[in-house]
Amino acid sequence: MSDRPDIRQGTCPQCGHEEVIEAVQSEFAHGNFGVPMCVTYDERWVLSGQNPQHGHGPLSLYVCRRCGFCQWYARSPETIPISEGHRTRLIKGGQSGAEAEPSQE
Ligand SMILES: [Zn+2]
Repeated sequence: MSDRPDIRQGTCPQCGHEEVIEAVQSEFAHGNFGVPMCVTYDERWVLSGQNPQHGHGPLSLYVCRRCGFCQWYARSPETIPISEGHRTRLIKGGQSGAEAEPSQE
């Protein structure tokens, strides 16, 4: 456990202020309503690239109302897929040397 306050509980870890704005982030390039901005998206079946309609880990931005300090948090991080197609890679701490290197095929 960290002794710094969790910004999601309404206290700024930077200055200690107790007013924090929570903002759910959307991307607006795909129609009027936008889609949730996520950590990653599933690959398209036909076209290349990723499908903004199938996202994982929707992002919220937390902003201290006094100093402007910002932190991003993703919802349900344990459900975010790790794969080349998702352009995600899992980095595990607590390893050293060659074990920490990404595996090559
Ligand atoms: Zn602050």
